[in-house]
Amino acid sequence: MKKAYCHDCNQELCNDEIALNLKLLGKHIGTFKCYHCLSEYIGCDTTKLQSMAEYYNSSGCILFQTSYIG
Ligand SMILES: [Zn+2]
Repeated sequence: MKKAYCHDCNQELCNDEIALNLKLLGKHIGTFKCYHCLSEYIGCDTTKLQSMAEYYNSSGCILFQTSYIG
């Protein structure tokens, strides 16, 4: 895909946001949310989501090594 946008607020998503959606919600999901909407959806802090993304990224999670947007 070229670009991805948040399903709820239409903000453009970065690669880590998409990867985190897949990690937390599963690969079957067809829509993605930004950190802000995702945090409301699952009920945790935006900063926590960002640190989770950093953690998965540095731990070499395959979902985070994939390029979803180009
Ligand atoms: Zn959003």
